[in-house]
Amino acid sequence: MAARIDALLPQTQCTRCGYSGCRPYAAAIASGEAQINQCPPGGKKTIEALARLLHRPALSLNPLNGVESALRIALIDEDRCIGCARCLAPCPVDAIVGAQKYLHTVLIDRCTGCELCLPPCPVDCIEMRDAPEAAIIEPSLNRERFAAHLTRSERQATERQRQLDAKKATAARRKALP
Ligand code: SF4
Ligand code: SF4
Ligand code: SF4
Repeated sequence: MAARIDALLPQTQCTRCGYSGCRPYAAAIASGEAQINQCPPGGKKTIEALARLLHRPALSLNPLNGVESALRIALIDEDRCIGCARCLAPCPVDAIVGAQKYLHTVLIDRCTGCELCLPPCPVDCIEMRDAPEAAIIEPSLNRERFAAHLTRSERQATERQRQLDAKKATAARRKALP
């Protein structure tokens, strides 16, 4: 059931439902822990779809989770961006491109408006703007991009750990030299 619920969610991973992503929220609905009206990006349409699936009455969106609005996407003020790259890792769909010490920019056809890139920016140079009408993204595409993001993050973490282990081993060998 959690998978069927998850299939109806927008897959922005924005955490506004109070859970760490769409799948954990789906699991919480399936277990009875969460209500069906906690997803602002999905709004009325998603609540109605969940109500139909679960044979429950459709509720109004819980205002504690936010308000339903048209898609807004992130825009980086390139004059103020210092190229620190702190916004890259938090983006669940890899919609930001750039590298350390280089300007960063948002791919508007990927951005889901989750706002997860805003808090890490040390110079506050990312703002949300109304999206062009065409910028509505299919949840299935968001899901695929999030899966790719997780795979890449795990690969990078493994590589970092491998490098750290190699450094430790080298330091231990040096220490053991007479
Ligand atoms: S899109 Fe909806 S279900 Fe997914 S994390 Fe955001 S609020 Fe939660
Ligand atoms: S660019 Fe920012 S707002 Fe857009 S999807 Fe990535 S983290 Fe979310
Ligand atoms: S976090 Fe802000 S300053 Fe750093 S690269 Fe991203 S947009 Fe630029």
